[in-house]
Amino acid sequence: SIRSIAVIGSGLAGLTTAIFLGDSGHNVRVFEKSRGPGGRLASKRVANGSADIGAQYFTSRNPGFTRFLDRWAGPRSYQSWNARFGYQTERGSWQAFPEEHRFVGTPRMTAISRALSEHITLASGVRIVRLSKEDSKWQLTGTDGQHYDGFDQVVITAPPAQAQELLRDSGLDAMAEGLAGHVGNILPCWAVAAHFNRSVDFPFDAARPNSDVLFWVANNSSKPGREDDGQWWVLHANPGWTHEHVDDAPESIAEALLAEFKALTGHEEAPDDWVPHRWLYARSEAGDNPGYLFDQNTGIGLAGDWLAGGRVEGAWESASQLVQAMGRNPEP
Ligand code: FAD
Repeated sequence: SIRSIAVIGSGLAGLTTAIFLGDSGHNVRVFEKSRGPGGRLASKRVANGSADIGAQYFTSRNPGFTRFLDRWAGPRSYQSWNARFGYQTERGSWQAFPEEHRFVGTPRMTAISRALSEHITLASGVRIVRLSKEDSKWQLTGTDGQHYDGFDQVVITAPPAQAQELLRDSGLDAMAEGLAGHVGNILPCWAVAAHFNRSVDFPFDAARPNSDVLFWVANNSSKPGREDDGQWWVLHANPGWTHEHVDDAPESIAEALLAEFKALTGHEEAPDDWVPHRWLYARSEAGDNPGYLFDQNTGIGLAGDWLAGGRVEGAWESASQLVQAMGRNPEP
Protein backbone atom coordinates (compact mmCIF):
# COMPACT_ATOMS: atom_id res chain seq x y z
CA SER A 1 0.00 0.00 0.00
CA ILE A 2 1.10 3.54 -0.68
CA ARG A 3 2.37 5.33 2.41
CA SER A 4 3.14 8.90 3.27
CA ILE A 5 6.68 9.15 4.63
CA ALA A 6 8.70 12.02 6.11
CA VAL A 7 12.49 11.95 5.89
CA ILE A 8 14.44 14.23 8.21
CA GLY A 9 17.81 15.28 6.80
CA SER A 10 19.03 15.50 3.20
CA GLY A 11 22.56 14.14 3.50
CA LEU A 12 23.32 11.06 1.43
CA ALA A 13 21.35 8.82 3.81
CA GLY A 14 18.23 10.99 3.58
CA LEU A 15 18.50 11.44 -0.17
CA THR A 16 18.97 7.71 -0.73
CA THR A 17 16.04 6.83 1.53
CA ALA A 18 13.77 9.31 -0.20
CA ILE A 19 14.73 8.23 -3.71
CA PHE A 20 14.27 4.51 -3.03
CA LEU A 21 10.98 4.96 -1.19
CA GLY A 22 9.69 7.37 -3.81
CA ASP A 23 10.70 4.94 -6.56
CA SER A 24 8.59 2.32 -4.79
CA GLY A 25 5.56 4.56 -5.17
CA HIS A 26 5.36 6.13 -1.72
CA ASN A 27 4.72 9.81 -1.07
CA VAL A 28 7.92 11.12 0.44
CA ARG A 29 8.76 14.55 1.78
CA VAL A 30 12.26 15.51 2.95
CA PHE A 31 12.97 18.16 5.59
CA GLU A 32 16.39 19.79 5.86
CA LYS A 33 17.49 22.39 8.39
CA SER A 34 20.22 23.85 6.18
CA ARG A 35 19.66 25.95 3.10
CA GLY A 36 20.46 23.14 0.69
CA PRO A 37 20.87 19.38 0.50
CA GLY A 38 24.07 17.40 1.05
CA GLY A 39 24.81 17.45 4.77
CA ARG A 40 28.42 16.48 5.23
CA LEU A 41 28.87 16.15 1.47
CA ALA A 42 29.71 19.83 1.60
CA SER A 43 31.41 22.45 -0.52
CA LYS A 44 32.03 26.08 0.32
CA ARG A 45 31.93 28.72 -2.36
CA VAL A 46 35.29 30.43 -2.61
CA ALA A 47 36.78 32.88 -5.11
CA ASN A 48 36.55 31.34 -8.60
CA GLY A 49 35.16 28.04 -7.42
CA SER A 50 34.50 25.96 -4.36
CA ALA A 51 36.31 23.83 -1.81
CA ASP A 52 35.12 20.54 -0.33
CA ILE A 53 35.07 21.30 3.36
CA GLY A 54 33.45 18.04 4.57
CA ALA A 55 33.85 14.58 3.04
CA GLN A 56 37.05 14.49 1.00
CA TYR A 57 36.41 11.52 -1.23
CA PHE A 58 34.43 8.30 -1.14
CA THR A 59 34.82 4.68 -2.04
CA SER A 60 32.29 2.54 -3.86
CA ARG A 61 32.97 -1.04 -2.89
CA ASN A 62 29.35 -2.08 -3.25
CA PRO A 63 28.41 -2.21 -6.96
CA GLY A 64 24.89 -1.23 -5.88
CA PHE A 65 26.22 2.16 -4.79
CA THR A 66 27.81 2.79 -8.19
CA ARG A 67 24.56 1.76 -9.92
CA PHE A 68 22.63 4.11 -7.65
CA LEU A 69 24.94 7.04 -8.38
CA ASP A 70 24.91 6.43 -12.13
CA ARG A 71 21.16 6.13 -12.29
CA TRP A 72 20.12 8.93 -9.93
CA ALA A 73 23.02 11.40 -9.79
CA GLY A 74 24.34 10.67 -13.28
CA PRO A 75 27.83 9.51 -14.27
CA ARG A 76 28.94 13.10 -14.86
CA SER A 77 28.41 14.15 -11.25
CA TYR A 78 31.44 12.26 -9.97
CA GLN A 79 34.86 11.04 -11.09
CA SER A 80 37.92 9.19 -9.85
CA TRP A 81 40.39 11.28 -7.94
CA ASN A 82 43.72 9.90 -9.06
CA ALA A 83 46.06 11.65 -6.71
CA ARG A 84 49.09 10.96 -4.56
CA PHE A 85 47.78 9.79 -1.18
CA GLY A 86 50.14 9.37 1.73
CA TYR A 87 50.27 9.00 5.46
CA GLN A 88 52.99 9.54 7.99
CA THR A 89 53.95 6.79 10.41
CA GLU A 90 54.51 7.45 14.10
CA ARG A 91 58.22 7.50 13.39
CA GLY A 92 57.72 10.25 10.85
CA SER A 93 58.36 8.38 7.59
CA TRP A 94 55.87 8.64 4.73
CA GLN A 95 54.00 5.77 3.10
CA ALA A 96 51.57 5.64 0.21
CA PHE A 97 47.93 4.87 1.03
CA PRO A 98 46.85 1.41 -0.19
CA GLU A 99 45.57 1.36 -3.77
CA GLU A 100 41.85 2.01 -3.90
CA HIS A 101 39.39 3.66 -6.24
CA ARG A 102 38.54 7.03 -4.73
CA PHE A 103 35.79 9.24 -6.07
CA VAL A 104 34.79 12.88 -5.72
CA GLY A 105 31.83 14.90 -6.91
CA THR A 106 32.55 17.05 -9.99
CA PRO A 107 33.03 19.93 -10.20
CA ARG A 108 32.42 19.91 -6.44
CA MET A 109 31.31 17.40 -3.84
CA THR A 110 27.80 18.82 -3.69
CA ALA A 111 27.24 18.11 -7.41
CA ILE A 112 26.13 14.66 -6.27
CA SER A 113 23.64 15.77 -3.63
CA ARG A 114 22.38 18.53 -5.92
CA ALA A 115 21.68 16.00 -8.69
CA LEU A 116 20.09 13.50 -6.30
CA SER A 117 17.84 16.16 -4.82
CA GLU A 118 16.16 16.67 -8.19
CA HIS A 119 14.31 13.39 -7.65
CA ILE A 120 12.79 14.28 -4.29
CA THR A 121 10.43 16.78 -2.68
CA LEU A 122 12.57 18.87 -0.36
CA ALA A 123 11.65 21.49 2.22
CA SER A 124 14.95 23.15 3.12
CA GLY A 125 15.57 25.63 5.90
CA VAL A 126 13.19 23.60 8.09
CA ARG A 127 14.57 22.13 11.29
CA ILE A 128 12.21 19.54 12.76
CA VAL A 129 12.00 19.81 16.54
CA ARG A 130 9.17 17.45 17.45
CA LEU A 131 7.21 14.43 16.26
CA SER A 132 3.73 13.82 17.62
CA LYS A 133 0.84 11.52 16.85
CA GLU A 134 -2.33 13.20 15.56
CA ASP A 135 -5.21 10.90 14.59
CA SER A 136 -2.84 7.93 14.25
CA LYS A 137 -0.58 9.84 11.84
CA TRP A 138 2.74 11.48 12.56
CA GLN A 139 2.87 15.23 12.67
CA LEU A 140 6.19 17.09 12.43
CA THR A 141 6.80 20.47 13.99
CA GLY A 142 9.46 22.86 12.68
CA THR A 143 11.37 25.51 14.65
CA ASP A 144 9.05 28.09 13.14
CA GLY A 145 6.13 26.33 14.86
CA GLN A 146 4.76 25.17 11.55
CA HIS A 147 3.19 21.71 11.39
CA TYR A 148 3.50 19.08 8.69
CA ASP A 149 0.78 16.45 8.97
CA GLY A 150 -0.29 13.05 7.86
CA PHE A 151 2.77 10.80 7.81
CA ASP A 152 2.51 7.03 8.26
CA GLN A 153 6.23 6.71 8.84
CA VAL A 154 9.19 8.93 9.70
CA VAL A 155 12.85 8.39 8.87
CA ILE A 156 15.44 10.32 10.87
CA THR A 157 18.90 10.69 9.30
CA ALA A 158 20.38 13.31 11.63
CA PRO A 159 23.62 12.49 13.47
CA PRO A 160 23.00 10.53 16.69
CA ALA A 161 23.12 13.43 19.18
CA GLN A 162 20.59 15.39 17.12
CA ALA A 163 18.42 12.33 16.50
CA GLN A 164 18.43 11.58 20.20
CA GLU A 165 17.40 15.13 21.11
CA LEU A 166 14.55 15.01 18.59
CA LEU A 167 13.28 11.68 19.94
CA ARG A 168 13.53 12.88 23.52
CA ASP A 169 11.67 16.11 22.76
CA SER A 170 8.99 13.96 21.13
CA GLY A 171 8.52 11.84 24.26
CA LEU A 172 10.06 8.79 22.57
CA ASP A 173 12.36 8.19 25.50
CA ALA A 174 13.08 4.49 25.04
CA MET A 175 14.17 5.05 21.44
CA ALA A 176 16.23 8.06 22.50
CA GLU A 177 18.01 6.06 25.17
CA GLY A 178 18.73 3.34 22.62
CA LEU A 179 21.06 5.78 20.83
CA ALA A 180 23.19 6.43 23.91
CA GLY A 181 25.95 4.12 22.71
CA HIS A 182 26.25 6.02 19.42
CA VAL A 183 26.21 9.62 20.57
CA GLY A 184 29.86 9.87 21.61
CA ASN A 185 31.12 8.12 18.48
CA ILE A 186 30.91 11.05 16.10
CA LEU A 187 33.81 13.37 16.69
CA PRO A 188 34.12 17.09 15.89
CA CYS A 189 36.44 18.60 13.26
CA TRP A 190 37.65 22.13 12.63
CA ALA A 191 38.23 22.64 8.90
CA VAL A 192 40.01 25.44 7.06
CA ALA A 193 40.28 25.86 3.29
CA ALA A 194 43.19 28.11 2.33
CA HIS A 195 44.24 29.54 -1.02
CA PHE A 196 47.86 29.82 -2.15
CA ASN A 197 48.93 31.58 -5.31
CA ARG A 198 51.96 29.41 -5.75
CA SER A 199 51.90 25.62 -5.93
CA VAL A 200 52.75 23.90 -2.70
CA ASP A 201 55.78 21.70 -3.23
CA PHE A 202 54.77 18.55 -1.36
CA PRO A 203 54.99 14.90 -2.47
CA PHE A 204 51.29 14.22 -1.78
CA ASP A 205 48.02 15.73 -2.95
CA ALA A 206 46.27 14.31 0.06
CA ALA A 207 47.93 13.27 3.27
CA ARG A 208 47.36 12.24 6.83
CA PRO A 209 50.27 13.66 8.81
CA ASN A 210 51.47 12.36 12.16
CA SER A 211 50.52 15.55 13.97
CA ASP A 212 48.74 16.54 17.16
CA VAL A 213 46.97 19.29 15.27
CA LEU A 214 46.35 18.20 11.68
CA PHE A 215 44.38 15.10 10.79
CA TRP A 216 44.34 15.60 7.04
CA VAL A 217 45.53 17.98 4.33
CA ALA A 218 44.45 17.89 0.69
CA ASN A 219 45.02 19.92 -2.43
CA ASN A 220 41.41 20.48 -3.43
CA SER A 221 42.60 21.87 -6.78
CA SER A 222 44.04 18.45 -7.65
CA LYS A 223 40.54 16.99 -7.82
CA PRO A 224 39.02 16.52 -11.29
CA GLY A 225 36.97 19.36 -12.73
CA ARG A 226 38.31 22.09 -10.44
CA GLU A 227 39.61 25.07 -12.37
CA ASP A 228 41.29 27.16 -9.71
CA ASP A 229 43.99 29.74 -10.21
CA GLY A 230 46.60 28.74 -7.69
CA GLN A 231 45.71 26.02 -5.19
CA TRP A 232 43.01 25.57 -2.59
CA TRP A 233 44.11 23.31 0.25
CA VAL A 234 41.71 21.84 2.78
CA LEU A 235 43.08 21.29 6.28
CA HIS A 236 41.22 19.19 8.86
CA ALA A 237 42.14 19.28 12.53
CA ASN A 238 42.43 16.21 14.71
CA PRO A 239 39.30 15.31 16.70
CA GLY A 240 41.12 15.63 20.04
CA TRP A 241 42.61 19.00 19.12
CA THR A 242 39.23 20.19 17.81
CA HIS A 243 37.59 19.13 21.05
CA GLU A 244 40.04 21.25 23.06
CA HIS A 245 39.60 24.25 20.76
CA VAL A 246 35.96 23.84 19.85
CA ASP A 247 34.94 27.34 21.00
CA ASP A 248 38.05 29.18 19.84
CA ALA A 249 37.73 31.99 17.31
CA PRO A 250 38.09 30.88 13.67
CA GLU A 251 41.07 33.26 13.27
CA SER A 252 43.09 31.47 15.92
CA ILE A 253 42.06 28.08 14.54
CA ALA A 254 43.25 29.09 11.07
CA GLU A 255 46.49 30.44 12.50
CA ALA A 256 47.23 27.15 14.27
CA LEU A 257 46.32 24.90 11.34
CA LEU A 258 48.23 27.06 8.86
CA ALA A 259 51.33 27.15 11.08
CA GLU A 260 51.27 23.34 11.22
CA PHE A 261 50.73 23.16 7.45
CA LYS A 262 53.74 25.42 6.90
CA ALA A 263 55.87 23.24 9.18
CA LEU A 264 54.68 20.15 7.30
CA THR A 265 55.21 21.38 3.75
CA GLY A 266 57.82 24.10 4.15
CA HIS A 267 55.58 26.37 2.06
CA GLU A 268 56.46 29.90 3.20
CA GLU A 269 53.80 31.87 1.37
CA ALA A 270 50.86 32.96 3.54
CA PRO A 271 47.45 32.20 2.03
CA ASP A 272 45.70 35.20 0.48
CA ASP A 273 42.26 33.84 1.36
CA TRP A 274 40.85 31.27 3.76
CA VAL A 275 37.48 30.04 5.02
CA PRO A 276 36.78 28.15 8.24
CA HIS A 277 34.11 25.60 9.07
CA ARG A 278 33.41 23.89 12.36
CA TRP A 279 31.87 20.42 12.27
CA LEU A 280 30.44 19.40 15.61
CA TYR A 281 29.71 15.97 14.13
CA ALA A 282 32.23 14.95 11.52
CA ARG A 283 33.55 11.42 11.32
CA SER A 284 32.04 8.42 12.99
CA GLU A 285 34.40 6.15 14.86
CA ALA A 286 33.46 2.58 14.10
CA GLY A 287 31.39 1.30 16.98
CA ASP A 288 28.29 -0.84 17.02
CA ASN A 289 27.08 -1.16 13.40
CA PRO A 290 23.48 -2.36 13.27
CA GLY A 291 23.10 -0.87 9.76
CA TYR A 292 19.84 0.91 10.55
CA LEU A 293 17.14 1.03 13.22
CA PHE A 294 13.43 0.58 12.54
CA ASP A 295 10.60 0.35 15.00
CA GLN A 296 7.62 -1.39 13.41
CA ASN A 297 5.22 -0.21 16.14
CA THR A 298 5.84 3.50 15.77
CA GLY A 299 6.91 3.46 12.12
CA ILE A 300 10.07 5.39 12.96
CA GLY A 301 13.32 4.48 11.26
CA LEU A 302 16.86 5.75 11.60
CA ALA A 303 19.62 5.72 9.01
CA GLY A 304 22.99 7.39 8.67
CA ASP A 305 26.71 6.78 8.38
CA TRP A 306 26.97 6.30 12.15
CA LEU A 307 24.85 3.14 11.94
CA ALA A 308 27.00 1.55 9.25
CA GLY A 309 30.66 2.14 9.95
CA GLY A 310 30.86 5.84 9.12
CA ARG A 311 31.81 7.31 5.74
CA VAL A 312 29.86 8.27 2.66
CA GLU A 313 29.36 4.72 1.49
CA GLY A 314 28.17 3.74 4.98
CA ALA A 315 25.44 6.40 4.78
CA TRP A 316 24.24 4.86 1.52
CA GLU A 317 24.43 1.30 2.89
CA SER A 318 22.46 2.28 5.95
CA ALA A 319 19.69 3.93 3.92
CA SER A 320 19.52 1.00 1.50
CA GLN A 321 19.14 -1.47 4.34
CA LEU A 322 16.49 0.63 6.06
CA VAL A 323 14.30 0.88 2.97
CA GLN A 324 14.47 -2.89 2.54
CA ALA A 325 13.31 -3.29 6.12
CA MET A 326 10.49 -0.81 5.50
CA GLY A 327 9.23 -3.04 2.74
CA ARG A 328 10.58 -1.61 -0.45
CA ASN A 329 10.00 -3.86 -3.41
CA PRO A 330 13.28 -5.60 -4.23
CA GLU A 331 15.23 -4.27 -7.21
CA PRO A 332 14.01 -5.95 -10.40
P1 FAD B 1 24.69 13.98 7.09
O1 FAD B 1 25.40 14.26 5.81
O2 FAD B 1 25.22 14.60 8.34
O3 FAD B 1 23.16 14.39 6.89
C1 FAD B 1 22.30 14.68 7.96
C2 FAD B 1 21.43 15.86 7.57
O4 FAD B 1 20.39 16.03 8.53
C3 FAD B 1 22.19 17.18 7.53
O5 FAD B 1 22.01 17.79 6.26
C4 FAD B 1 21.56 18.00 8.66
O6 FAD B 1 21.54 19.39 8.36
C5 FAD B 1 20.17 17.41 8.71
N1 FAD B 1 19.47 17.56 9.98
C6 FAD B 1 19.93 17.23 11.22
N2 FAD B 1 18.99 17.46 12.15
C7 FAD B 1 17.89 17.92 11.49
C8 FAD B 1 16.57 18.33 11.92
N3 FAD B 1 16.22 18.28 13.20
N4 FAD B 1 15.70 18.77 10.98
C9 FAD B 1 16.07 18.82 9.66
N5 FAD B 1 17.29 18.45 9.22
C10 FAD B 1 18.19 18.00 10.12
N6 FAD B 1 33.46 10.16 4.51
C11 FAD B 1 34.15 9.47 3.58
O7 FAD B 1 33.65 8.47 3.07
N7 FAD B 1 35.38 9.90 3.17
C12 FAD B 1 35.96 11.03 3.68
O8 FAD B 1 37.04 11.42 3.23
C13 FAD B 1 35.27 11.75 4.68
N8 FAD B 1 35.83 12.84 5.23
C14 FAD B 1 35.09 13.61 6.08
C15 FAD B 1 35.61 14.80 6.55
C16 FAD B 1 34.84 15.66 7.34
C17 FAD B 1 35.42 16.94 7.86
C18 FAD B 1 33.50 15.33 7.61
C19 FAD B 1 32.61 16.29 8.34
C20 FAD B 1 32.98 14.12 7.16
C21 FAD B 1 33.77 13.24 6.42
N9 FAD B 1 33.29 12.01 5.96
C22 FAD B 1 34.00 11.29 5.05
C23 FAD B 1 32.01 11.47 6.45
C24 FAD B 1 30.87 11.66 5.45
O9 FAD B 1 30.77 13.01 5.12
C25 FAD B 1 29.60 11.15 6.10
O10 FAD B 1 29.79 9.80 6.47
C26 FAD B 1 28.34 11.21 5.22
O11 FAD B 1 28.33 12.36 4.40
C27 FAD B 1 27.14 11.17 6.17
O12 FAD B 1 25.90 11.24 5.49
P2 FAD B 1 24.55 11.18 6.32
O13 FAD B 1 23.45 11.38 5.37
O14 FAD B 1 24.55 9.97 7.17
O15 FAD B 1 24.64 12.41 7.37
